[in-house]
Amino acid sequence: MEEIKKKENFITEIIDKDLAEGRYAKVHTRFPPEPNGYLHIGHAKSICLNFGLAEQYGGKCNLRFDDTNPAKEEEEYVESIKEDIKWLGFDWEDRLYYASDYFDILYDYAVKLIKKGKAYVDSLSYEEIKELRGTPTRPGKESPYRNRSVEENLKLFEKMKNGEFKEGECVLRAKIDMSSPNLNLRDPIMYRIKHVPHHRTGNKWCIYPMYDWAHGQSDSIEGITHSICTLEFENHRPLYNWFLEQLEIHHPRQIEFARLNLSYTVMSKRKLLELVEGGYVDGWDDPRMPTISGLRRRGFTPESIRNFADRIGVAKRDTMIDVALLEFSLREDLNKKAQRAMAVLNPLKITLINYPEGKTEELEAVNNPEDPSMGRRKVPFGRELFIERTDFMEDPPKKFFRLKPGGEVRLRYAYIIKCEEVVKDSEGNVVELKCTYDPETKSGSGSTRKVKGTIHWVSANHAFEAEVHLYDRLFTVEDPLADKERDFKEFINPNSLVKLKGCKLEPFLKNAKAGDRFQFERLGYFCVDSKYFKKGKLVFNRTATLRDTWAKIAKKQNL
Ligand code: ATP
Ligand code: MG
Repeated sequence: MEEIKKKENFITEIIDKDLAEGRYAKVHTRFPPEPNGYLHIGHAKSICLNFGLAEQYGGKCNLRFDDTNPAKEEEEYVESIKEDIKWLGFDWEDRLYYASDYFDILYDYAVKLIKKGKAYVDSLSYEEIKELRGTPTRPGKESPYRNRSVEENLKLFEKMKNGEFKEGECVLRAKIDMSSPNLNLRDPIMYRIKHVPHHRTGNKWCIYPMYDWAHGQSDSIEGITHSICTLEFENHRPLYNWFLEQLEIHHPRQIEFARLNLSYTVMSKRKLLELVEGGYVDGWDDPRMPTISGLRRRGFTPESIRNFADRIGVAKRDTMIDVALLEFSLREDLNKKAQRAMAVLNPLKITLINYPEGKTEELEAVNNPEDPSMGRRKVPFGRELFIERTDFMEDPPKKFFRLKPGGEVRLRYAYIIKCEEVVKDSEGNVVELKCTYDPETKSGSGSTRKVKGTIHWVSANHAFEAEVHLYDRLFTVEDPLADKERDFKEFINPNSLVKLKGCKLEPFLKNAKAGDRFQFERLGYFCVDSKYFKKGKLVFNRTATLRDTWAKIAKKQNL
């Protein structure tokens, strides 16, 4: 991994102060995903932040699955989450935990609170509890069961654990303050009954802890020092602190930061699941998805995602980040790394009428002008070639410097050619160009003759055919959730995937493997699709075009 840069932001300020004042001796963070979906780019930001801070301070970062809700969680998600974190380049070493590992301790902690008179079993229904809770402007009312004796509460809580109640018959609540202006402190529910087996604890439990009850105590058990979460938990912080104070156990500090929102996509796992289950996309790893697995399949590098996370930094207020910034980070990385190749997506045949039939030349091409150590390769050249259809215009505007009737253009790494004749089919479509080449103009031969345009090509006899998938934004609007009247799925971009068949590729690409990345000259960055590769089919995904609008965006967003 690259050198650890010292980052400074409002979180490091808090940490520096905590260390200086001796509140904590070291830094220990955690990433706590709920295994109810695949990770997305927002999670990537949180991963980079938590693991990054641990690295920066020579501390540790745990991976903890927040698996307190038995109904929604699946093993498939656990595995994908682990794979994604590793792929991003982070390592939890031997610190892989599950909140469900702590169910016994949490139960004992709850008993401790009951004994202190700080928790009680409430026999109201969920509806009644909700009704009595009040609103931000109306104080709550105490439950008639609030003053049950410690003995009775202990007995009832044990019965809850032993499965002697039906779901919804009773809950365990913290006894705090029903008139608190903070609704989270109005006797929050700690445990509810769910007669549902759990992916790890099986049928052992039928009471499951609520997030607020499980989270802080899990942090404490693991010796976490800084529990970093997103802004919606700011109002939960007093409750987070209350539990730890009442239990008198190790007390981590909760710090909130703004969640990442990205333009032209949705980020909530529930919404992403809707896209998957409704068949709007080809699974969680569809290359148009903002999931880490989708970005990986699309061709993103872990470095580009980490650089993106660094670049956007951490904020205390919610913002919308332009997806173009993510693409900028990608181009910056791939420009240094990607092997160049020539590929023709919409082929138009050309024949060089003065080039000997049957002759083949091997021309030299540079693998990566940014990195001479990547060397050169031989590209076969012959009498029949393919060029991009859009590189020829029969009736071009003035500043068109590519091929036109009677016009000249340079073929990259090869010769200057001239268009002598346009061949059309009976419907008037251009099907072939007959050209001549100038043998004196071979690239690298010292020829001084110059023309304005250079285009890419492949040799017709050597090229191989493959499918290329072009992607565009999944949604047509910046914020698909902004319109409260309409379902976000109505804004799906119908042209977000275009499949091009019969593309002509430079021969060496035949041997490309799943995940290999290339720059197709003048066209963009492409990557071998891993899902199709497994099925024995070579499909190249366009990761990004070469176009770079970053300068404009940087100005707009003041970055
Ligand atoms: P979602 O709302 O997308 O389903 P979540 O918050 O429910 O996400 P969790 O699995 O609970 O997902 O999140 C794990 C960690 O990732 C949490 O610490 C959460 O704060 C953080 N996280 C989730 N979404 C984002 C985001 N968009 N930006 C930054 N951090 C995020
Ligand atoms: Mg969550």
